[in-house]
Amino acid sequence: MKFEVFWTNPDYKVRPELRENIECDYLIVGGGITGVMLAYFLAKDSDKKIVLIEKDTIASGATGKAAGTLVLEGEVDLKDMMKIYGREKAISYWRAIHEALNTIKEVVTEENLECDYELQDAVYASMSRGHDSTIFEEYEMAKNMEQSVELVSGKDLLKVLNTPLYRHAIVYKNHGVSVNPLTFTQNLSRVTEKYGFTIYENTPLVHDKRRIAVTPHGTIKFGKMIMAIDSEARHSKIKRKNTTLMVTEPLTEAEIISINMVSKKIVWDTKRNYHYFKLMPDNRLLIGYGDKYVRKKFTETTPQGLAVKHTEDYLKKLFPNLNIRLEYGWSGSYGVTKNHMPVLDIRGNKWSIGGAGSQVVCVMAARHVAHKLLNNNSYVEEFFSN
Ligand SMILES: Cc1cc2nc3c(=O)[nH]c(=O)nc-3n(C[C@H](O)[C@H](O)[C@H](O)COP(=O)(O)OP(=O)(O)OC[C@H]3O[C@@H](n4cnc5c(N)ncnc54)[C@H](O)[C@@H]3O)c2cc1C
Repeated sequence: MKFEVFWTNPDYKVRPELRENIECDYLIVGGGITGVMLAYFLAKDSDKKIVLIEKDTIASGATGKAAGTLVLEGEVDLKDMMKIYGREKAISYWRAIHEALNTIKEVVTEENLECDYELQDAVYASMSRGHDSTIFEEYEMAKNMEQSVELVSGKDLLKVLNTPLYRHAIVYKNHGVSVNPLTFTQNLSRVTEKYGFTIYENTPLVHDKRRIAVTPHGTIKFGKMIMAIDSEARHSKIKRKNTTLMVTEPLTEAEIISINMVSKKIVWDTKRNYHYFKLMPDNRLLIGYGDKYVRKKFTETTPQGLAVKHTEDYLKKLFPNLNIRLEYGWSGSYGVTKNHMPVLDIRGNKWSIGGAGSQVVCVMAARHVAHKLLNNNSYVEEFFSN
């Protein structure tokens, strides 16, 4: 088994580091999905001079290690959203997330982005009697919000997914988006250059003083600086979470038919929302298996032995008749806040954004920040902690 990130982007050419002193209106620090989407929105909607610096390469943080499962329910269930925010606010949060997911779809189409984009059903399933009420409650909420949602059990569930593990499931028709998160972000950064913005890779921000950002071989005089470094930000509200992904060897066509995955879907379950899987374009299963096993003794990319063992056990329970091996495994960190709201910290000309917890929320956050910077209205203000 290879303990390395599965995603690659062989055609991507890393840009040179900064080696001079420059000026800009907006300096974005961090080239993950948040920083790159923010740059995209700003570059498209304004003629400001925008510069992005990334200490490593674009998408080398959580973004390029992620599963690329973009769904409406990320860190929180709809029913938990209702508890946290109250009904009205939860409904507008749900709409905002929908909008962010639509934005991703539009950007992929408009910019002709190569990123293995696929629209798939999203399936949320319960695996034990104790979890049935979670699914039923969730379905009651979902059917009021969505037209294309269905609750399936027994034989109907087996038609959706042939596994003995699940008892009931909510099927959201075409609600999930599957992408390769590395190519999505790196290729978007390339596209964004045509709207007139500049990126320097291998260029860390070392420190800043009075509107001057200092990097190892050059300085940047900025109007506003926006930090988009997520789990690396030293912010009391942003907690670092570690999580693990595994990729199997490719399944045969017969194996895919046998588990009813011909029509692809993104599946996650009630027990932990880090149990999830999807079938990728090359017919490999990508499986997310929790944050529990890497929390204590964590190395940046190597998942611990236990994570491998538990993923193998999970796979056996999920599809007992499949005999497939895990081929890749890695771990990564990302930022979340306790109340699941991203943080936007504004201190004069230094802004900081992070803790979104999922890539769809990162896009919502990036759009919000772009609106605020360009003095446009943003109706998602209430979903940010500061
Ligand atoms: C293993 C894993 C699987 C995941 N799966 C999913 C999923 O399927 N779906 C989903 O929605 N979310 C998923 N997530 C969460 C998601 O990846 C993150 O919420 C999101 O990518 C965060 O993006 P970001 O741009 O805010 O941060 P990052 O991607 O971490 O980007 C921050 C960037 O800042 C750079 N940086 C830091 N310090 C400096 C500095 N001083 N100077 C310059 N640059 C700096 C870093 O190098 C990094 O590239 C997953 C996360 C992990 C770890």
